[in-house]
Amino acid sequence: MSPEIADLLRREGPLPLARVMAIAADHYYATREPFGVAGDFVTAPEISQMFGELIGLWLADLWLRAGSPAPVILAELGPGRGTLMADALRAIGRAAPALRAALSVHFIEKSPRLRTLQAKAVPEAAWHDDLSTLPTDAPLLLVANEFLDALPLTQFERVEDGWVMRRVELTSRGPRWDRSVGANLAFLPAEIRDSPPGSVHERNFGAEQVAAAVARRLAAQGGAALFIDYGYSGPATGDTLQALKGGRFADALETLGEADISAHVDFAAIARAAAAHARVFGPQPQGPFLQAIGLDDRAEALKRLASLERRAEIEAARVRLCAAGAMGRLFQVLGIVGRDWPVPAGFPTLQA
Ligand code: SAH
Repeated sequence: MSPEIADLLRREGPLPLARVMAIAADHYYATREPFGVAGDFVTAPEISQMFGELIGLWLADLWLRAGSPAPVILAELGPGRGTLMADALRAIGRAAPALRAALSVHFIEKSPRLRTLQAKAVPEAAWHDDLSTLPTDAPLLLVANEFLDALPLTQFERVEDGWVMRRVELTSRGPRWDRSVGANLAFLPAEIRDSPPGSVHERNFGAEQVAAAVARRLAAQGGAALFIDYGYSGPATGDTLQALKGGRFADALETLGEADISAHVDFAAIARAAAAHARVFGPQPQGPFLQAIGLDDRAEALKRLASLERRAEIEAARVRLCAAGAMGRLFQVLGIVGRDWPVPAGFPTLQA
């Protein structure tokens, strides 16, 4: 645990998990190098240029079918090293030069250290602390990969005589869960209320607020958004809080502030928050989504130009992105589309 968080818990603890997680995540992203081979985890855009390129093409296709409105805002939540956007911009420049000319790039990023890296990858970007300062006077195209999972999680736990809200306490023998505060039952869906003691139910209020805010923007400004993350469709019980350090799972409480801390995303809750304002597509697993928008063709095209060794790497990356046993099934894609915008590619259209 980082000394700052230990001090805070000694001074003010026990504190709700969401509060501790917000501080731990800020500290982590501000001080560590999380991404890539030497980092704590590898994200899809860092695995292959194909990921960002395909997302760029997905955006370009939708924009063209929407009638090529100009100007347009291209925003990303939590861009990491800026790799996804750099790859997307290159693909957009080739496939839809008119979109490349019409767009301005906006990054929502809290970490000053990561902003510096992002400026190297995408020098033209403008930065924001949160969604509120994004321009409102043009349609919005927005992407967020592995952003929602990092937002502060609330956990409820079933104990013998009801439900409590999990808080973090620092004792002389280390961190532990405090279970002394009752839960607001309004937050517990009927389906899970009778779960046995020990059951955990998760809610990410911050992620739901972000989805609702983006959907409201799309309703008002037009445009589309793509949220990609590991997750499931609730309501469910299960403790998905996880910490990754050096590519390995670690104890989330022991490593607060020193490891990447995140939780699986309840896409049913995200979809519900967004559907109050705009049209929602998915969630659809990442594998079928990427294949529907051209992953295999893109891999073949890259392989044709590559050395034998490079070809094997491209194929390995393709499989990693879409295979069910790798990222293809755990990762989910949710599309949100503003009024009068067309149906996005990559999602099965529902047949009644
Ligand atoms: N999208 C990137 C990085 C994912 S890691 C990729 O796929 O590689 C999460 C990113 O979100 C980091 O850039 C982190 O600094 C940022 N982030 C986390 N919480 C945030 C918040 N509340 N506001 C803004 N950015 C945040």
